[in-house]
Amino acid sequence: MKGAEEVIRCLLGRAADGPGGGFVLAGVRPSGGALDLVFDRAGDGFVVRLFPAASDAGFYRRSRHFKLGYAGAEADEDRIALLDAVAAAVSRGEAALGAEACAALFRSAALPGPGPRVRDGALELSLTTRCNESCPFCTTPRRTDVRDPEPEEIERAIRSARGAGAGAVVLTGGEPTLDPLLPRWVALARAEGLRVTVQTNGVLPGVEGWWDRFRDADGAPALPDVLHVSFHTARPGRVRELTGVGGTFDRKVRAVRSARAAGIDVILCFVVTAANADEASEFPSWVAATFGSGVAVERRPDARDATTRSAGPS
Ligand code: SF4
Repeated sequence: MKGAEEVIRCLLGRAADGPGGGFVLAGVRPSGGALDLVFDRAGDGFVVRLFPAASDAGFYRRSRHFKLGYAGAEADEDRIALLDAVAAAVSRGEAALGAEACAALFRSAALPGPGPRVRDGALELSLTTRCNESCPFCTTPRRTDVRDPEPEEIERAIRSARGAGAGAVVLTGGEPTLDPLLPRWVALARAEGLRVTVQTNGVLPGVEGWWDRFRDADGAPALPDVLHVSFHTARPGRVRELTGVGGTFDRKVRAVRSARAAGIDVILCFVVTAANADEASEFPSWVAATFGSGVAVERRPDARDATTRSAGPS
């Protein structure tokens, strides 16, 4: 959504670079007739939602051409400060932008992203097409004019999974950990009696205390059964070439260890490319020596079928 993102950055001016609590604007995506301004603070996300002024959506602040709200149930002090700063910037910037340009921002904001599907008894549910890595072999569509599913759509898909013949759900992306509501979806799927797999690149689950927020309505732990982690090398210096982002090796290791410590089964997805083919055969031994039992390795393409095209792991 590059065009809209450029306009939003102009609209926000300096507010795009972190007006409150260290947040910076990481991207803009359409969201059911609104625009989600995705702010990031070292992996800690917050989504400010911008509606046209004529929308009947609930809002936190409004200006002449826009209403401003946010995704998720809670906003702490830092997030409220961010919202106030964004609202002030929008009020300042919209006059210069003009009514027509403000309205044009929303014209491509309603196309749906990939929908859920049931495969091999599991509901595959993409929570977002966004990702905080950029793997050269990624097959996730990077269309810029699609929107992520609304929370209501995700909830409906999970609640209807059993009726559609699924006994499990695979929460995927893009990178599903970028959805701040992921703990809610895991808890809901478990309450529906579904086996839950989360496919991730491991960057965010490597944050200290990541699993603490995975709880049901009564506060009891509600964790995925399986964490499927993209993990393509045992050599930290190769991570950037394989994922487009460097310096995340230790995070991924922590993600695996914290999941195991929480009792979650882990499958590492090792996508074989020219950049790591020389370690493909030794990788399972390294995994066993590093993580012990309870961590499996899935190689793509499978060694028995080297002609299979590799798919993006998450
Ligand atoms: S392969 Fe997975 S982790 Fe890599 S860019 Fe694509 S969605 Fe992100």
